Amino acid sequence: VAFLPDWLSLHAERRPGRVAIATEERSVTYAELHRAAKATAARLFALGVRPGQRVGVICHQGLMHALCLHALITLRAVMVPLNWRLSPAELAYQVEDCGADFVLCDEAAAPFAEQVASAAARRVPTIVVPREAWEGEGAIEGQPMREAAGDVSLTAVHAIVYTSGTTGRPKGAMITYQNHWYSAMASALQFGLDPEERWLVPMPLFHVGGMGVLMRSLIYGTTAVVHDRFDAEKVDCALASGEITLVSLVPTMLARLLKLRREPYPPQLRAILLGGAGCPRPVLERALELGLPVAQSYGLTETNTQVATIDLAHALRKMGSSGRPLANVRIAVQGPDGPTTAPGVEGEILVQGPTVFAGYYNRKEETERALAGGWLHTGDIGRLDEEGFLYVLDRRQDLIVSGGENIYPAEIESQLLALPGVMDAGVVGKPDDEWGQVPVAFVVMEAGTVLTDERSRAFREELRSRLAHYKVPVAFYQVDALPRTASGKLMRYEMRKWVMQG
Ligand code: AMP
Ligand code: MG
Ligand code: MG
Repeated sequence: VAFLPDWLSLHAERRPGRVAIATEERSVTYAELHRAAKATAARLFALGVRPGQRVGVICHQGLMHALCLHALITLRAVMVPLNWRLSPAELAYQVEDCGADFVLCDEAAAPFAEQVASAAARRVPTIVVPREAWEGEGAIEGQPMREAAGDVSLTAVHAIVYTSGTTGRPKGAMITYQNHWYSAMASALQFGLDPEERWLVPMPLFHVGGMGVLMRSLIYGTTAVVHDRFDAEKVDCALASGEITLVSLVPTMLARLLKLRREPYPPQLRAILLGGAGCPRPVLERALELGLPVAQSYGLTETNTQVATIDLAHALRKMGSSGRPLANVRIAVQGPDGPTTAPGVEGEILVQGPTVFAGYYNRKEETERALAGGWLHTGDIGRLDEEGFLYVLDRRQDLIVSGGENIYPAEIESQLLALPGVMDAGVVGKPDDEWGQVPVAFVVMEAGTVLTDERSRAFREELRSRLAHYKVPVAFYQVDALPRTASGKLMRYEMRKWVMQG
């Protein structure tokens, strides 16, 4: 019989004094976390929360978010982490879509959670989890909860995580306990496991990236270090202190760290895990020159984080690659005759393995499409090389086809970022009578720098020396900022709207 233990009880018993979660203001041990999660679960039970129900969570503070996560596991209710950077109407859609029975929030997010709840067509009660939930053992009112259900079934759904929705309506990806277990194992095999692991996640926890760090730390019985928001100086300071062993970043965060850093971090820091997007080449090069242990990974919500990660040993030789599949994972590419691992074939990236999600909540057709033929269809285009290294080219929807040639915006953006004065860049296709589509670029320049015609001409010239002619943007537009999701992804469909509006 395969099952998973109740991790929190296990660690609270075996290593009660070890820090489970550390934030800037306080650290809580496994014993404290266990006690607070049980007390909170009992309180939620008294308020009507039941096993199997979907429960939205909106917390501005990572520590409170983590408490909600553990209380909901204790209750065996399904957590629906909500991205509070979205609008109340967008979140109301998610709350309705998953049929959430409650929305939990911390005190800081309470007014916002109230807006979300009242924007939903069906009135959803909100429950504020107070900070006092961390204190005092006996502060439980109402009926006592039955002892938590004990072992956990591998296939039980732990969470429903809405995909960032860079295309169409967000869908709720069902993440199971098995997904977490295998992600934790694959990650430990990739990076090794330090019993004193302290894994820093300097961002909100509502994406699988943050949730994954909480769940892996829980499974290992190690410490998750949470910064509620990314502050480059604080992260730099934490990494330099020697107290962090692993850190998860999105590439835009690495770029900001590099502006502060002139020397390597102490050796306790084994890896800087990059996820959520491909890291622009100039950023990667600078990081490697500095001797930072950067590890580009590839993954998506539907695979519950990384499924491929590059070893530091190959980082230079395989620059631009997202590495080889993790243990238990198979990656192929959709070729003309079906899935293939033949080198050089470009096609949709396909993934198989036990970290692939259980489907989209209440979306039979989309689930069947996503999992057709026993492979997860990622919507990304990539290729494998002769040694099995994955190169992610771009999202299928963002592909620009110009005169029959494929253009991957990410490749051009990478080159643009290497140009003097360019802070950020995004490339999309513009309809063109002759070529079908041609690339145009939106760039954010350094403060005080204007993108004059002369500069645009110089950019074009420089790019011509680095890129095929048809890949060089036909126009450059200076903008103040590019539309990005919370995880740092470019929302190119928003930029396509700019193009259509002229
Ligand atoms: P999400 O939709 O928020 O789950 O994010 C997953 C998406 O991020 C993938 O489908 C890719 O489009 C993108 N992504 C993740 N890792 C990489 C990578 N290493 N290179 C390029 N794109 C990536
Ligand atoms: Mg996606
Ligand atoms: Mg995302």
